[in-house]
Amino acid sequence: MNLWTVKEVRRPTSADQITEWRDGYAWLAGGTWLFSEPQIHTHTLIDLEDFKWKSIDASASGLELAATCKIVEIYNFKPPAEWLAGPLLRECCDAFLASFKIWNASTIGGNICMSLPAGPMISLTAALEATLTLWPRDGEPRKVRVVDFVTGNNKNVLAPGELIRNIHIPAEALAKHVAFRRSSLTHLGRSNVLLIGTRSTVDGSLVLTVTAATVKPFQVKFDTYPNATQMRHAIDALIPDADYHTDVHGTPHYRRHLTHYYAEQIRLELEAKAPRA
Ligand SMILES: Cc1cc2nc3c(=O)[nH]c(=O)nc-3n(C[C@H](O)[C@H](O)[C@H](O)COP(=O)(O)OP(=O)(O)OC[C@H]3O[C@@H](n4cnc5c(N)ncnc54)[C@H](O)[C@@H]3O)c2cc1C
Repeated sequence: MNLWTVKEVRRPTSADQITEWRDGYAWLAGGTWLFSEPQIHTHTLIDLEDFKWKSIDASASGLELAATCKIVEIYNFKPPAEWLAGPLLRECCDAFLASFKIWNASTIGGNICMSLPAGPMISLTAALEATLTLWPRDGEPRKVRVVDFVTGNNKNVLAPGELIRNIHIPAEALAKHVAFRRSSLTHLGRSNVLLIGTRSTVDGSLVLTVTAATVKPFQVKFDTYPNATQMRHAIDALIPDADYHTDVHGTPHYRRHLTHYYAEQIRLELEAKAPRA
């Protein structure tokens, strides 16, 4: 789409070159959302591409993903075999309501910034206990966990002009067993519920992350493996009814029902994955 309100596209090679932030400025990543609808309040796009941040760096401490890493790069990344959670990377790429055309342009940082309930990179990184490094326009970099970053439907903690620089997924989380459940009204459609469970191979603790069903990610950790009733009560204590999302893809009641349904499936699947003796 032609953005007729945009009068200037700037292409800095580092964030320091943007010395002031004005109303009407917007960072441009893949542009798949920015160019999908009119941006009547935006007159200047500031392209992140020339920052040339390294997209993916895997090391003993985990996975570093630049905010500008494209979905297709995550899809094509081959995680080491000891990262039991590795298949989750592809499963979450497949959870986009989007084809390869979007994957080739869209970035993980852009997806997290959109902070939509059905943002699959939010599901992925929240479930794997990732931390974001944020670069404020003035001030020191700060770190925020993904589960705390999104505060509502299309709402997050970013201040005006603040950048997501990178996403760190710790190796401990990547080494966990995972179970993934997702529902959508149509094949390749928008997720209306996306739940991920992870289980530590070390202490057997279970972490359940609820996304898409809710306006923001919710996460609960069980140090002792729960039974079905405990799981149910924990979800009800964690998620207020008002925080179940509503749109054409499902009512809050429906999403709450599916959340319980899939959580129990995940509980049973991961129960079989006992920690190392
Ligand atoms: C056909 C189609 C299907 C889609 N399906 C989905 C879907 O299933 N789920 C979903 O969540 N979204 C979906 N989207 C919306 C959007 O494409 C995705 O959220 C995408 O991941 C956004 O990434 P981007 O890199 O293209 O962001 P852009 O469009 O470039 O930017 C999005 C927003 O984030 C800001 N931004 C980008 N990067 C940064 C950064 N590093 N720091 C600070 N701000 C930044 C921009 O200023 C802008 O406000 C879809 C869009 C289309 C057109």
